[in-house]
Amino acid sequence: MLRGSSEKLSSPITYIKGVGPARAELLMKEKGIKTQWDMLTDFPFRHVDRTVFSSIREAVEDGQPIQLKGVITQTQIMGRGRGKRLSAGFTDGTGNITLVWFQGVTRLEKIIGPGVKLIVFGKLSYYGSKKNMAHPEIEIIGEGGAEKLVKTGLQPVYSTTEKLSSRGLDTKGLRRIQKNIWAGLSKSDIPETMPAYLLEKLKLIDRYRAFKWLHFPENQSQLDQARKRLSFEELFVLQLRMLHRMTERKMRLKGFVFEQVGQYFHRYFSEQLPFELTGAQKRVLKEIRGDTKTGIQMNRLIQGDVGSGKTIVAIMAMLLAIDNGFQTCLMAPTEILANQHYLKIAGQLEEIGLKAAFLSGSVKGKKRTKILEELAAGEIHVLIGTHAIIEDWVVFKKLGLVVIDEQHRFGVKQRAKLWKKSGELPPHVMVMTATPIPRTLAMTLYGELDISTIDELPPGRKPVKTSRSSDRYRGRLNQFIKNQIAAGRQVYIVYPLIEESSKLDLANLQHGYETLLEQFPRPQYQIGVVHGKMKPDDKDLEMKRFVEGKTHILVSTTVIEVGVNVPNATVMVIENAERFGLSQLHQLRGRVGRGADQSHCILVTGYKLSKVAKKRMEIMCSTNDGFVIAEEDLKIRGPGEIEGTRQSGDIELKVANMARDGIILQTARKMGKIILEKDPTLSHPENVLLKKMVQAENGSALLGRIG
Ligand code: ADP
Ligand code: MG
Repeated sequence: MLRGSSEKLSSPITYIKGVGPARAELLMKEKGIKTQWDMLTDFPFRHVDRTVFSSIREAVEDGQPIQLKGVITQTQIMGRGRGKRLSAGFTDGTGNITLVWFQGVTRLEKIIGPGVKLIVFGKLSYYGSKKNMAHPEIEIIGEGGAEKLVKTGLQPVYSTTEKLSSRGLDTKGLRRIQKNIWAGLSKSDIPETMPAYLLEKLKLIDRYRAFKWLHFPENQSQLDQARKRLSFEELFVLQLRMLHRMTERKMRLKGFVFEQVGQYFHRYFSEQLPFELTGAQKRVLKEIRGDTKTGIQMNRLIQGDVGSGKTIVAIMAMLLAIDNGFQTCLMAPTEILANQHYLKIAGQLEEIGLKAAFLSGSVKGKKRTKILEELAAGEIHVLIGTHAIIEDWVVFKKLGLVVIDEQHRFGVKQRAKLWKKSGELPPHVMVMTATPIPRTLAMTLYGELDISTIDELPPGRKPVKTSRSSDRYRGRLNQFIKNQIAAGRQVYIVYPLIEESSKLDLANLQHGYETLLEQFPRPQYQIGVVHGKMKPDDKDLEMKRFVEGKTHILVSTTVIEVGVNVPNATVMVIENAERFGLSQLHQLRGRVGRGADQSHCILVTGYKLSKVAKKRMEIMCSTNDGFVIAEEDLKIRGPGEIEGTRQSGDIELKVANMARDGIILQTARKMGKIILEKDPTLSHPENVLLKKMVQAENGSALLGRIG
């Protein structure tokens, strides 16, 4: 039987030398470590090269881990009782540093004195302007057995806590426990989980060695190999599971067949479409057409930057469904957005003899009853609305396709609800999102969806010009806004509103608004305000006034972030831009640049920016490409912080790192595909290990849970 580990490793950590009940309890509390296996999979978060020594003079960065070789110049006991500490002067000939210990003072006092030669390792800190190191690891350089440490190469560093450290479980203590575990292990304790042919093909080392080298590599190459092998394993398990589920779903889940491209599609194409489709739009349409021919239910994510023209693709897909005798619906996350779609689409559809209707929570009474009746009778072809359209009381005659706009987090539950609406088979589903997800992440998050990407903007679109500004240039900025308004354009001014400091933020917005009123006096200038704390009706009214061009400037929080389309708005001013994340900034910028005129995005920031904030501003000013921005975002923030990934427990990885291991992930996915193509049920004898991997209970792909 395949196991992630042997029986032995699932025994409690107390079996290990150096771990008594008290330490075991603490390990559980602080790190969730119960078994030896838990401990083994608590991998070091970095290694330090103990073959390299710093010099005191050249080491300057606060917090930097350094190793020094030198001699104690003097020692001093300070304080008493619990506050007692040992302070030692230390020099390596280039400078001086003070070593300080608060614990084990009595013991240390005996072995450390002036003239004792030491190798010390720890973090550099400062006390005033003096260099200082608290609780360094030390190794005494003896007469004969000198400098043996120097040869041991890379040392693992484990994450620890204050409480653990005070019990002797600092990184050195944890290292000792790891060593004690390893002392009793043999190869069979960490059995192989991958078929030999795969290891050979990808030149991956075996699992036992990978574990060992990830903890105790002798050199960088071993460490790299260990990381590669285990990262691959983690990502491969994830991918294989997902692909396997997808294959199974496709084998199982039948869908409606859209046999033909019919009259509505053709009529719309020739009569209503005012422009050529872009190559990307055509390609995605082809993919949808391909999906809906197969008899398998489509589940497709359409990714496309703001303004890439997803709506048209949705309309054409809907027409395809209608041509084959089905009804369709289009769902948007907000009433404003849904209404905007309705206003744009309904008329066009009417022209070619089709009926669309709008439904949201606010459509009530007779109006609603009528819509529901017509829907059930099959007289309405396209229902456009908010989440209301998937409520149980909304009954279609024959729903064939559901389009979900601007929402990539459409839950499983909601999907299930839809399936009840179309009789014997589930409707095809396409989800559209303007939040580009880096490829690597998309593969993991949405590995079960097919993904189409509209990676081309309609021609003639002028890229938004992005620049930075600050309070110092307020006058110039205001003048610029006035010029734009004089030219007939409209302006967004966005303030951050972060939940935790929402009071302050609202006050800030209010203050900004009042200042604007002074600088842009009525009646020449009309300014509207929208924020999340307003009543929905008031909000809608303000939005509407802006959409209709009645207000020149819309001051708002990020509520306008999603989807709103006002082509006449050409300026997006983002106040306190440093407080927004990259993807949010990009979304906001996407509100402008939707018409023929040159648009501008102005990032107003404070003077002093953190390194990361500065980097974000630079990226924003240098590119308009949402995918580039998403990749950069992933690099800066790491996958855990990217929207939507936080709730996905599935990608809590122990070794692999999404931002770093993109190539490994792609290899994992490719290999998974090849293997499943040849052996969809993983029944071939050489895939027996993979089958077990895929079937492993607990769903989790964490290394420890295979078994
Ligand atoms: P998004 O992908 O952000 O939803 P939309 O579908 O709202 O983008 O399209 C943005 C604008 O581009 C709309 O005004 C739309 O009419 C226009 N558009 C879409 N496709 C094309 C095209 N192929 N050529 C020219 N304009 C297009
Ligand atoms: Mg859109």
